[in-house]
Amino acid sequence: MVNDVNWFEGRVKLTPKETAIVDAKTNKSWTYEQLHERVMKLTAIFHAKGVKKGDRVGLLSPNDISYFDFFFACMKIGAIFVPFNWRLATSELNYCLNDSAPILVGASPNFAAKLAVCDHQVNTLIIEHDDYLEKEIISGFIDTETKMEEIDPLAMIYTGGTTGRPKGVILSHRSILWNALNTITSWGLTKDDVTLTCLPMFHTGGLNVLSLPLLLVGGKVVLRSDFDPEQVMSDINKHQCTVVMLVPTMYHMIIESETFRTTEFPSMKLFVSGGAPCPLRVYQAFLDKGIVFKEGYGLTEAGPNNFYIDLSDVMNKMGSVGKPMLFNEIKIVAEDSLHAGTDEVGELYVRGNHAFMYYWNRPEETEETLVDGWVRTGDLARQDADGYVYIVGRKKDMIITGGENVYPLEIEHWLESHPDISEAAVVGMPDEKWGEAVTAFIVSESKLTPEELEAYCNEQLTRYKVPKQFIFIEELPKTDVGKVNKNLLKESYSKPNK
Ligand code: ATP
Repeated sequence: MVNDVNWFEGRVKLTPKETAIVDAKTNKSWTYEQLHERVMKLTAIFHAKGVKKGDRVGLLSPNDISYFDFFFACMKIGAIFVPFNWRLATSELNYCLNDSAPILVGASPNFAAKLAVCDHQVNTLIIEHDDYLEKEIISGFIDTETKMEEIDPLAMIYTGGTTGRPKGVILSHRSILWNALNTITSWGLTKDDVTLTCLPMFHTGGLNVLSLPLLLVGGKVVLRSDFDPEQVMSDINKHQCTVVMLVPTMYHMIIESETFRTTEFPSMKLFVSGGAPCPLRVYQAFLDKGIVFKEGYGLTEAGPNNFYIDLSDVMNKMGSVGKPMLFNEIKIVAEDSLHAGTDEVGELYVRGNHAFMYYWNRPEETEETLVDGWVRTGDLARQDADGYVYIVGRKKDMIITGGENVYPLEIEHWLESHPDISEAAVVGMPDEKWGEAVTAFIVSESKLTPEELEAYCNEQLTRYKVPKQFIFIEELPKTDVGKVNKNLLKESYSKPNK
C-alpha cells in the first residue's frame, strides 16, 4: 500500500522505466525502479541499525545518488533527513552534529575521517562509490508501513549561515510536497524536463528548487558535484537539459567565460538565478542571446520557491522575482505594521503549505519568524501595480544614514552597471555624524578613483545614497553559495590589521 505522504512510491509505479538520476561524472544512470530498489535496500539497513520514526539521519557527501537514497529512505521510515555542509570546518560541523544529534550519518571515507575528529561521536555508514549498499549485509527485513502524518518532519536543512550560525529548518512531508507542487504548476514542469544540479544538495537550493520537484513529476536530474563554468555549459548540452538553477556567482563566471559567447543552448527552456541578488548584467547577457532567464527568490524556511514570471514579462520586469506562485500567499508589511501600498517598501511575509514547521532547538526564533502561519522573511520588498515583486535587500542590511533609509542593493546594482566594476557590496559603517556611513567595497581591475566613482553615483543616486567611502578590495568574502558575507566585510574593515 502506498502511504499518503510517500509520493515517491506512487511515482515509481507511474514511470518505472524512465531515467530518474544521472551522475554526470561517472555517466551512470538509474531509472525510477532502480532508484526504488536502492531506497528499499537502504530502508532495510536503517531498520537493522535501529533507525526509527523521528530519528535524525545525517549525510555528509558531495552531490551524488546517496542524497536520493537517504532522502527517500527517510521518507519511507519517517526519519528526519539531515544533509550536512561538507565544506564546514570541524568546529562548525561539530556544532551541527551536537545540534541535530543524528543516530546515523552516511559519509564518504574522507568525510568519515572528518566526523571521527568531532567530539559528537556517531554511528557511520561509509559511502564509497555508488555500490555502497551492496556491501551491507541485511537479513530478515519486512516491509512494514510506518504511519505518518503530512506534518511529520521529513528533513532538517541548515540555513546558509549568512547572518549568523546556521539554523536547522524543519520541513515536513507537506512542506516539501507543496514546494514541489507549487514549482511544477507555476513553472510548468513536465516529465520531459531535465535539470542539472550542481548547487550543493545540502542547501535547499540543490535539493528543493528543481531536484525534488522534477522527481515528483517524473523528470530527470543530472548530478554534478562541483562547479566549473565550461563543464556546466557542456553538461547542459550533452544531457539536453531544459531547466537549470544556479546562483549569481556561477552565472557571473559563465558569462565571463570565452565559451559562453559561442555557445547556444538549444534544449534549454529556462535559466533561474536565486539565493542572492542577480546583477543586471547577467540577465542582459542571457537575454541578449534570446535565452529566457528569470530571477527566483526563496529561503530555506519557505519553499524555497515562491514566485514565477510570465515569459512575456521577462523583458519588461527585469529585476523582479515575479508574482507569487499558485499556492503561495504574500504580504508586504510597512514599518507601521500596516500593509505597504503599491511600490512601498516593507518586510516580505509568505504563507502556504510549503512553509517550514519550526527551527530545531530554537523555540524563540521560531516564535519570531512564524507568526499566524506567516513566515517573516527578514527581507525587504516592494510590489508594483501589476503584482510583480522586487526584493530590495535584507532588513538587517538596511542602512540608516542621517535619519534616511538606504537599501544597499539599489546602490550595488548601479555600481555594478559601471563597465570597470566587476562586483560591489555596500554596507553601513558606524559613524559619529551620520549614525551609519554608506560605504562601498569595490572589486575592479581598473585604476578607478573614489572621485570618479562619486561622480558616477551622483549621476543616478540621491545625494544621501552616494557612498561616503569607496574601498577597493581584491575579492568580496562569500558564503559557499556565493552570498556576500557582509558581517565579515564590516569586521575586517573595522580591524584592518587582523
Ligand atoms: P541565515 O538565515 O543563516 O543567515 P541565509 O539567509 O543565507 O542564512 P538561506 O535560506 O540559504 O539562508 O537564504 C535565504 C536568503 O537569501 C533570503 O532570505 C534572501 O535574503 C536571500 N535571497 C534569496 N534569493 C534572493 C534574490 N533573488 N534576491 C535577493 N536576495 C535573495
